[in-house]
Amino acid sequence: MPELPEVEVVRRSLDNHITGLVIDKVRVLNRNLRFKIPKNFSKLLINQKIMSIRRKGKYLIIKLQNKKLIVIHLGMTGKIIIKYIKSNSTHLTSFYYDNKLLKKHNHFFIRLNKTVDLIYNDIRKFGFIKILGFSRFDFTKYFSSLGPEPLSKAFNKSYLSSKCKQSKKKIKNFLMDQKYVSGLGNIYVNEILFYSSINPRKLSNKLSGDQINKIVFSTKKILKKAIQLGGSSIRDFNTVSGKEGSFQEKFRVYDRVKKSCFKRKCKGTIKKIYISNRSTFFCPKCQNN
Ligand SMILES: [Zn+2]
Repeated sequence: MPELPEVEVVRRSLDNHITGLVIDKVRVLNRNLRFKIPKNFSKLLINQKIMSIRRKGKYLIIKLQNKKLIVIHLGMTGKIIIKYIKSNSTHLTSFYYDNKLLKKHNHFFIRLNKTVDLIYNDIRKFGFIKILGFSRFDFTKYFSSLGPEPLSKAFNKSYLSSKCKQSKKKIKNFLMDQKYVSGLGNIYVNEILFYSSINPRKLSNKLSGDQINKIVFSTKKILKKAIQLGGSSIRDFNTVSGKEGSFQEKFRVYDRVKKSCFKRKCKGTIKKIYISNRSTFFCPKCQNN
């Protein structure tokens, strides 16, 4: 499932490819994503220039000249492909990449400047696209339930400490809850707790000040690094039927069950458990507190 780093890399890639271009054609092949694509979808988009591309948590927000916003959420398996019609070259904007992108999972096309297609592909169809009016009211209302961006100054020790004190949730569930911090999902929360040497089952209100500090520090560090790596590996994704990105190899605990802990001097073995039905990887030796 795409998390903040991947969505940010998609945003940067889209920004490179389509900002400033004008939409001249929209083709919907399947309206039935997580939310139905409205019938007037293409009417709202045609002849509109792409002004900017932003991100909030795991949402991509494309601002149009008519002040409408296209909001895209990639759900579990959503991918955005940029295709240059003349040269027939394709660019996958995502960095997790394990399946061939079958055409039958392409759900809509947006053609820009008569030369570039933005294609949305989604196997499981949990992603969605919505058009919002750009008024402060709309925008705030739509995103009001989201917590601060983890890379912003608002996500700091005093913020996290005050929220954790009020919560009896396991810290893993707490960090995955978008209302406390936006953009984190299962993979990165596993990684963050590993770096912070904190047991994923630890209750949020039992964390020490030092542990809170570690979470804030490693969250920022891991996300920044992932964006950087994703951004660099993405250049290799110039084909839609190519190789897997090297990004997955960088995980230190996720998907490493029964393997040796990467931490120097720790001779632990990574264990897999389930917390709220989500696979959780941790080292019982160095994440014992
Ligand atoms: Zn360990």
